[in-house]
Amino acid sequence: MLEKIAALEQLARPLEPNRAGRDEILGASVAYVHEFLESLPEQSGYAQIECPELRALAVGEAGKPFGQMLDILASEVNRAGINPASGRHLGYIPNGGIWSASVADMLAAATNRNAGVFFSGQGAVVLENQVIKWLCEVFGYPDSAHGTLLSGGSVATLTALVAARDAHKIGSENVRRSVVYGTGQAHHCIQKALHIAGLGEAIFREISVDERFRMDVAWLETALLADKAAGLQPFLVVGTAGITNTGAIDPLDSIADLCHEHGAWFHVDAAYGGFFVLVESLREKFQGIERSDSLVVDPHKGLFLPYGLGVALVREGQRLVDSFGHQSSSYLVDAQGFGELSPSDCGPELTRHFRGLRLWLPLHLHGVAPFRACLEEKIWLCRYFHERIQALGFEVGPEPELSVTFYRWPAADPDAFNLCLVESLHRDGRVFFASTRLNGAVWLRCAVLSFRTHLREIELGLAMLTEHVARLENTAENREKNLA
Ligand SMILES: *Cc1c(COP(=O)(O)O)cnc(C)c1O
Repeated sequence: MLEKIAALEQLARPLEPNRAGRDEILGASVAYVHEFLESLPEQSGYAQIECPELRALAVGEAGKPFGQMLDILASEVNRAGINPASGRHLGYIPNGGIWSASVADMLAAATNRNAGVFFSGQGAVVLENQVIKWLCEVFGYPDSAHGTLLSGGSVATLTALVAARDAHKIGSENVRRSVVYGTGQAHHCIQKALHIAGLGEAIFREISVDERFRMDVAWLETALLADKAAGLQPFLVVGTAGITNTGAIDPLDSIADLCHEHGAWFHVDAAYGGFFVLVESLREKFQGIERSDSLVVDPHKGLFLPYGLGVALVREGQRLVDSFGHQSSSYLVDAQGFGELSPSDCGPELTRHFRGLRLWLPLHLHGVAPFRACLEEKIWLCRYFHERIQALGFEVGPEPELSVTFYRWPAADPDAFNLCLVESLHRDGRVFFASTRLNGAVWLRCAVLSFRTHLREIELGLAMLTEHVARLENTAENREKNLA
């Protein structure tokens, strides 16, 4: 038996490379990362490529040289699709992925603390709770607030809405009488979360929007009153601080008034826009967010972190423990004795990746000032784009509220033309733009949120748009001439 154990230990040895082995892998990885980052300014924002080597590579009993996998990563994986690391990503919601957070991820994984339970990972949990406390302060939440660090905005939304559901004691007997209010511009993760949380049978009232796609609060009030009169139970109002499509912010303060008056839970989806609250001149736009019952914000958007961090904050932190604590709800009292709440009592996960480190390290290493400046730079770049695109003859939406703006070329058949335009831009790929539908019409968006997007990238995007419109217009003219 001892021989057998010794033999197996020997066979498992590759799982713990020695220093030379680690150096070899790290050295190659670091060299590749430098090369990747240095070539980034010239990399395209979008590329369509096949991944033949990746598809052909089978998992086998024997290991393969590290270089073989690194080559596939470099030549196929990291070149296919949208390039989120690039400053030329102006579609959806870009971020970039700051370098210091990637180092934090490596440190977290290599040392492998369990950030789920205080008893198990005391330092890790204290660190995460410090980060959460900072976030609560950023949004003006009271000392009673708490939160949880999750993989992204969608899971954070699910977590917050479960807390809302339990706080309002919604179950099978009253779910069909419970009403959720939101606009057609609310992110689809809200519907997904309602569905997963067993709230799919609740009534969803779509509240209409004003000309800037913000919630019409007069409508909301009418709906709340009508529902109450009909014996229904207003449960949840979802406002958005930074609508993905248009960058608009719902009138949070007025919504908070109505929620207060009618006893509804006020949830703010600030996944995209929330961190703009750090920009002094924009603070006013977020007035009322501090009165919400819960909010979601994505550091992997507005703090430029690599993908994998969304946060749910709840005004009465005890609500999270009520929903997710696996001891009694009086646990908070015990935990105060302990000094710290465990993340596993405040969200769906038990064993957790130590994801707080990827936010804590950059915040301390850089300080808040560069984040603030970068966010403000994005605002000005978006305003500049909006001004220039108008001067180029495009039809534009209203002055951007944050860092998203929308526009389209005023052709005879605008939908068909702008669809051709966006396809043509994708084929080019130097800068990535995405289209959207607003009131059924096709519009192009420009979303500026990568910390690597600067004036140079915006100018390239504008030049590309000019070039592609000219070419498409030419083609259209030629076609008409040929027909005539
Ligand atoms: C991105 C986004 C989400 C979803 O967040 P993920 O991190 O992608 O899961 C939700 N709401 C808004 C407004 C968003 O922009």
